[in-house]
This record gives sequence, structure tokens and C-alpha cells, in this order.
Amino acid sequence: MEQTLEQKQTIADVWNKRPLIISGPCSAESEEQVLATAAGLAATGKVDMLRAGIWKPRTRPGSFEGIGAKGLPWMQKAKELTGLPVAVEVATSKQVEDALHFGVDVLWLGARTTVNPFSVQEIADALRGVDVPVLIKNPINPDLELWIGAVERIAKAGIKNIGLIHRGFSSYGNTEFRNAPMWHLAIEMKRRNPDMMLINDPSHICGNRHMLLDVAQKAIDLDFDGLIIESHIDPDNAWSDAKQQVTPERLGEMVGSIHWRKEDTASEEYHAALEKLRQQINQLDDELMQILGQRMKISEKIGNYKKENSITILQTNRWNSILERAFAAGAKMGLSNEFVTKYFDAVHMESINHQNKIMNS
Ligand code: PEP
Ligand code: MN
Repeated sequence: MEQTLEQKQTIADVWNKRPLIISGPCSAESEEQVLATAAGLAATGKVDMLRAGIWKPRTRPGSFEGIGAKGLPWMQKAKELTGLPVAVEVATSKQVEDALHFGVDVLWLGARTTVNPFSVQEIADALRGVDVPVLIKNPINPDLELWIGAVERIAKAGIKNIGLIHRGFSSYGNTEFRNAPMWHLAIEMKRRNPDMMLINDPSHICGNRHMLLDVAQKAIDLDFDGLIIESHIDPDNAWSDAKQQVTPERLGEMVGSIHWRKEDTASEEYHAALEKLRQQINQLDDELMQILGQRMKISEKIGNYKKENSITILQTNRWNSILERAFAAGAKMGLSNEFVTKYFDAVHMESINHQNKIMNS
């Protein structure tokens, strides 16, 4: 049915939709592939925006580097066919110009672009005076300042609608993820930009299909505003990121099986129960602080003895025995070794700092 002007969703309507679901192929490969994927996604009724990489920044030369500007009319057709707005990645001013020329609705900066202030500034300059929403992926390396810097550059160019995409961070060595999520960094980015949309990209975090749903659910449980997930009409034969793409049908099932939780509810009973439990948490946190303070005082006394007797601050054996005791006690209380290690590392460092002050006073 033809949509009248009033019924037609504007890009602002779509941008403000929660949760916002973006999907489409890693790369546009052919007109047929783009249109078939778009039609499949639209048929699920669960997708708000189409994505496709037109220019692909590849780690090594020789991989498929994107179809280039000739893919832009395919995106335009996909939009006409489905009514869904389209998003593409841009990394240069020329790409911004081409994308806008072909009516691309949303631009995104990839992880390999956010990492480079020269590139971000070039894009920002090309966007001056343009009214287009921009999504900014986190940089490849776990550096929040670079991510924030990119947001500032794009905002300074006058772009009003800026959103964030958390796609995980590169880390050396094998982890189960292609890009380690390091959720705490995304949470900190949200804390610093509370009004900015934050969506999660399980595809580039996982690098495989079987973990997508778990990561997507975790993001939604952490109150992310939406998801960007790669999909392809024939995932196994995709020209890039074949391992992580799913069919449009599977994408629909996945989004359908996510448990959408609310951040808040009007239920008074819930608020009263939560308030009581939070008071208990506050009480315990206060006690923990007092106990930690007392622990440091004792540690300072030990520091004084060490100073008088010219003994080093660190005795490796003693530290090992503290950790062993803590692992055993932690296990009984259901605390993971990972947590116990991090916690005692922090306490131990603080204790060393206190003793250091005494030694050098
Ligand atoms: C992509 O979205 O296809 C892409 C290249 O992602 P990233 O910039 O996160 O690597
Ligand atoms: Mn990809």
C-alpha cells in the first residue's frame, strides 16, 4: 500500500525507536544479494534499518575491499523496496559525499576510523552543514578518550544526532571473542554520555554465529538501546565475515527470542522492595569501607615495624599466602577466583602505597 506523507516514518522516528534494530550484510556484493537480504529482513517485521558495507577497511590487502560507489544505488533500491532507511560506513570525505548523494540515511564510522583523529576530522569537515545522523563505533583499541574524541569532532561539525556502537575491542592472544566486549568500557561511555543512543554489535564482538544471541541478550540486559547484527541471504558464501553472518530468517528468530526487559516500572511494590535491598547494600558497602580503612591502619603499623628493621615492603611468600587464603574463603562464599584476584590486587596495591608513604616519611 502506498504510504501517505503523514504515515511515512521519518528518519527521526526510526532513530528514536527503542529498541533500534539494524541489520544487513557485512558487505554489499551484488544488487541481487542486497535486495534479497533486504526483502528477507523486511519480511521478519523486526528490523528498523538496513546496513551494508560499501567500502570495506580490511586488515590485510587482497581481501574483498568493498564494491564501492556502484553499490549505493542498490541500497537506494533496497530502501524503496522495503521502506527501511539505510546506513553505510564512511571513512573519507569522498565517501561521505557519495553516500549523501545517493540518499543514505545514516552514516557510521568504523572501528578503524574512530581510532584515527585525522580521518575522523576529515569526515567531520565533510559533514559541516549537513543534517544526517551518525553512528560512531568504538575504536579498535580499548581507549575511551579516542571514542569520546570522535564524538566531539562530529558534534563540533554540527551533527545533532549521534549514536554509539559498541563492537568490542581488539586484544592480543586468543579469547573466545573476535573482539573482547570489555563491557565496563561501554558502560563507562554510557555514563559519560547518558543521553546518547548506545547500540551493541554482537556480530563483530563474537566473530561467530553461535554466541550472537548470548551477547545480544547481555547487551539488552545492560540497557543498550538496540542492536546492529549482520545478516546475509547466503551467509556461508559471504565475501566478508562469513562466519558471523546469519540469514534474515534466523535474524528474525533471534530478535524474537530476546527477552526485552524494562529499565523501570511503575509498580510500587517493586520500588519498595528494591529500596529496602538497596539500603542493605549501602549499609554493607559502608561497613566494607570502614573495614578497609582499618585494614590500612594495621598495614601502616606493619610498615612502621618494617621501616625500623629495614625490611622490604613486599614479601612474596606472605602475598602468596594471602591470596591462597582468599581463594579458599572466596570459593566458600561463591566468589570467583578472577574477582578475588582483582579485589586483592587492588587492596594490596593500596596497602603498599600506605606503607610506601611511611617508609619514605
Ligand atoms: C562492519 O560493520 O562491517 C565493520 C567493518 O565493523 P568494525 O568497524 O566494527 O570492524
Ligand atoms: Mn563485518
